[in-house]
Amino acid sequence: MPIYEYRSSQPPGCPHCQTTFEVMQSMASSPLETCPECSGPVEKVFSTTALHGTGSTGDVLSNKNLAAKGFTKYQKAGDGHYERVAGSGGPQVIQK
Ligand SMILES: [Zn+2]
Repeated sequence: MPIYEYRSSQPPGCPHCQTTFEVMQSMASSPLETCPECSGPVEKVFSTTALHGTGSTGDVLSNKNLAAKGFTKYQKAGDGHYERVAGSGGPQVIQK
């Protein structure tokens, strides 16, 4: 589920929303309009950090980050031949 960042749209807000706070929401749910702490108005902050603690989108999808998140990635290395490029699960090479 993506993480959205919000902050108070009408200062001063409360300590919770004076700075940005993160809410995990499904894509389908409607955006938060009020602070859960003080019920003051909040606005969504555009965030590219869908996966927390990572940098740009490129980093999120990097092999190193995929491995860190527990994903295993294979890359086609030939005809019916796949090499594991990220993660530790599964064989190093898959041969069809
Ligand atoms: Zn607040």
